[in-house]
Formats: sequence, structure tokens, C-alpha cells
Amino acid sequence: MTRQIKVGGVKIGGGAAVSIQSMAKTDTRDAAKTVRQIKELEKSGCEIIRVAIKDFDAASAVRAIKRKIKIPLVADIHFDYRLALSAIENGADKIRLNPGNICKEDEIREVVMAAKKRKIPIRVGVNSGSLPIQLQKPSKAASEAGKRLQTENLVKSVLDYIKILERMDFCDIIVSLKASSVRSTIEAYKLFSKKSKYPLHLGITAAGPASTGIVKSSIGIGALLLEGIGDTIRVSLTGDSVEEVMAAKNILQALELRNFGPEIISCPTCGRCQVDLARITKELSLKVQGLRDNIKIAVMGCEVNGPGEAKEADIGISCGKGSGVIFKKGRIVKRVKEKDIVKELLMEI
Ligand code: SF4
Repeated sequence: MTRQIKVGGVKIGGGAAVSIQSMAKTDTRDAAKTVRQIKELEKSGCEIIRVAIKDFDAASAVRAIKRKIKIPLVADIHFDYRLALSAIENGADKIRLNPGNICKEDEIREVVMAAKKRKIPIRVGVNSGSLPIQLQKPSKAASEAGKRLQTENLVKSVLDYIKILERMDFCDIIVSLKASSVRSTIEAYKLFSKKSKYPLHLGITAAGPASTGIVKSSIGIGALLLEGIGDTIRVSLTGDSVEEVMAAKNILQALELRNFGPEIISCPTCGRCQVDLARITKELSLKVQGLRDNIKIAVMGCEVNGPGEAKEADIGISCGKGSGVIFKKGRIVKRVKEKDIVKELLMEI
């Protein structure tokens, strides 16, 4: 089991529930706009939020943002360690440092001292695209040996950085080793988890737009979580952060690691379906959003496979021509017209 650390009120690692993170996409210096986005993310289920600290104005804005939000805030720092000091001073709950661009020991020491004083953790977040210069090898990306070397370099850079922090008697550490290649990311996290007990923040970096990014993230994050690796996750998408949070929730619910409310099991439809199942499913999904009950709702397009599938669910509908039969725990409850399916299902739920 990994070591447990705390980010604000959220526990990470050591058997705590896998938490969901996202990143604000606003200019942090615009505190009002950033708060609006974070509040929307809080509402959708985000548990930890990260903001980009690209200058001292952004670091100062942390104070105003923190006053208005409920979830812990992580300051994302690159290049200038003084930005970390300022963000800590302004109330950040965690600092993310990139070993690729903040690597002078005396600078790291100052950040560590400030983090210790405020009792906040540091994420050592390495990306394959920003490895420290001395670890960047002109590897032939296409060759297996080149990829292995990149993975080993990624892990080595984090372990070296951790040694520096440990020498300063600092162990409130979270680690991420992100690559845009799903395979490299999985290999890097696996290799690291064999060598260290620090909790892991999982993610695939620069995963792309939702259409491909959700697939990459689900495979990468999912494969690791299935092996018991990973303590907090961030799905990175080019697009709305709310989509990142929804995707993260879906990954955790699909792996039965967390429960975020009803699960809809709907069939893909085929030539046997005689109702507008896509509309029914979409409407139902929207209506059950926000319910906390851990129930399975089956929405099946026909009576051939429908009743059988619906047996596995707590409640379900098996459709026929212009109508459907509602089941509860596999037993028929009533027959309803197509136009009333959603309303009747909701009543039964
Ligand atoms: S449940 Fe019926 S309509 Fe849906 S995919 Fe199966 S056979 Fe086709």
C-alpha cells in the first residue's frame, strides 16, 4: 500500500478512495473567471483543482480564489521556484514541481522549507516532454530499446528528485510520470511503483480531444488502477474540464472503485429495435444525473435479449413496438407506452 498524504481535506494513497482532479483552463490572474470555472467543476464532482501559476500575479490570485472555493487548490509551477514560494504564501494546498525545470538544490530547498512550514505536500510531476537535460538521450523513439530507455529515464528522474527531498527530511510527496504514449505511461508507473511507496497521481499527458483522449486515458489509467496502482487521477482533454471530471468518474465507476450514482446499461440497438432507444437513454441519463443511489438501470431495445439482460439490473425496460415492459429485479412490473417510458421508469426508480 502507498503512503497516505493529505491535500487540504482530501486523503491520497494508503487505501483512501481514488480521488478526481482537474485543471482550470482560465488565466489564473482572472480570479473571478477562475472561481466560476472551479465552482462548475466542484459541482460536477472534481475533488482537487490545479491552476497554472505562470507569474507572480497568478500566484497572488491564489489567495482570492481560495477564499471562494471549497476544494483544495494545487499550484502548478514551472521554471521559477519563487512562484512556488508565493503560491504557498497565498494559501495553495499543494505544489506541483517539474523536475525538468526546477532542479537547483538550493531552490528546491526553499520550496521544501515553505511547504514544511505550511504542512502541504509537493507533487513531483515529470512529463516525458520535459525531462531534465542530462536524462534526455537522443533515443530512437521508434525502437523498443529507445522506448525502454525513455521509461527508465522518466522513473530515474523522479527517484533522483525524491532523494533530494528526502535528504531535506521531506516525505509529503505525490508522484506523476506522464507520457503522451499510453504504453510508456503504463510502463513508467509500473516500474516506479515497484521501487517506491509514494502515492501516485495518474494521467496521460496531452491525450488530445475528448474523442481520443477519453479512450487513451481510460486505457492508461484503467490498466494501472486494475493492477492496484494509482491514488488520484486526472483525465487531460483538449476541451471542457467538466468532461475531464465526467470521464474520470466513469472510469472509477466502471472499475467499481467508486460509486457516483445510477449506472445505465443500454443496448446498442439493431434491426430488432422498434423504439427511439437513443432518445430514451439520453433523456433518462439526464434525468437520473445527481441521484446518489447505486442502482443499475437496463434499457434494452427489444424483448429478445431485453428481459435476460434486465435481470442483471435493479430496474429495466425491455422495449417492443411502440411500448416497453418495465422489470424490477427481473420481474415484470408493468407495460408502458413508448412516450411514457422515461416518466414511468423514473417513478419506479
Ligand atoms: S437488445 Fe434487442 S435491440 Fe438491443 S441490440 Fe440486443 S437484439 Fe438488438
